[in-house]
Amino acid sequence: MVEIFHEEDGNLSILKDKTISIIGYGNQGRAQALNLRDSGLNIIIGNIEDDYKKIALKDDFSVFTIKEATEKSDILFLLLPDEILNEIFERDIKPKLKPKDAIVFASGYNIGFKLLKPPSDIDVMLIAPRMIGVGVRENFLKNTGFFSFIAIEQDVSGQAKEILLALAKGIGTLKKGAIMLTFRQEAELDLFNEQAFGPAFGRVLLTSIYTLIDAGYPPEAVLIEMYMSNEMSYTYRKMADVGLVKQVEFHSQTSQYGAMSRGIRFRTLPLKDKMKQILKEIQDGDFTEEWKKKITKLKFKMIKYFATKQKINKLEKEVRKNMKLKTYDLYEEAPTEEELLELKKISEELKLFEQYFE
Ligand code: NDP
Repeated sequence: MVEIFHEEDGNLSILKDKTISIIGYGNQGRAQALNLRDSGLNIIIGNIEDDYKKIALKDDFSVFTIKEATEKSDILFLLLPDEILNEIFERDIKPKLKPKDAIVFASGYNIGFKLLKPPSDIDVMLIAPRMIGVGVRENFLKNTGFFSFIAIEQDVSGQAKEILLALAKGIGTLKKGAIMLTFRQEAELDLFNEQAFGPAFGRVLLTSIYTLIDAGYPPEAVLIEMYMSNEMSYTYRKMADVGLVKQVEFHSQTSQYGAMSRGIRFRTLPLKDKMKQILKEIQDGDFTEEWKKKITKLKFKMIKYFATKQKINKLEKEVRKNMKLKTYDLYEEAPTEEELLELKKISEELKLFEQYFE
């Protein structure tokens, strides 16, 4: 049985003599620092010299370099972007850690896939909010909380669970609920959502849009119908509020019959097989290996370039202009001559992406 924790499971008193540093005052960093301080805990910030440091000072925090903050604290929240975390950890944090310190991640990726090796004499924990930073703060202030996945990788102090639950309470997640997983499970779930559900949903959305536009409906009406009205996001919210099928009751009888009677036609799409394959690549670590390669970074740059050139962007911009909505420029740098030469090795694969992003 999975363990699920709520407000009564966390006791803040275990943290009363601890200094907690938030490393990286960004999206998650600012929200979590403010919440923990409002919960009565002793918070300092470790940050580089940038605009986020100015915000932290304005928010009335003591701000130190990352090395200094590590020296001064017992518990560290590592809230830096995942792709640079390892480098900063090795250079600035690891040499300054003391035995029995605790480090807390907000994503399972680096530990789950063994990209970052923590020393063996510290506690290693995870609190991964299922919520963007702004939401972490807003839901704390509203007293509603937010869901999180939590995990313990190393328990050297023998108190890792109590400390983790106290921190989770301080952040405000126990008001809604925290589920105990492993780092690897958290990372795999997150990657699956990004790599299977996200793109599959995106393709269904685009196919619907083009089906309607090809049939002659005005693009303004189509984009509003499909996503710009926010109606779908309302439906999605209702699924969370009352249940996947129960939310159907908010729609008309005609809508309900239409959706249910036609739903069966999509049952035979080979969606599940593709999703199982994506999940297997995540679980086997094949995706992590792929993402580490230099050629993958170049491939990514090229794919993003294709994505900015696809026709939906132009169409959407026109629609937004016609609807007197603010428009946003999409700009992705074209690859350099040198990069193009490197990309020649995978030109056949890239051709497929170019077609995909028509
Ligand atoms: P941000 O992109 O907001 O960056 C966090 C901070 O890191 C910023 O202050 C940034 O400053 C700083 N930073 C970037 N590069 C460096 C560097 N080279 N050296 C030192 N500091 C640097 O991160 P997030 O808050 O989005 O993510 C933090 C963690 O939270 C990640 O593990 C992420 O997976 C996790 N998470 C994020 C969620 C989200 O909604 N964003 C949701 C749940 C978990 P600057 O830009 O000035 O360099």
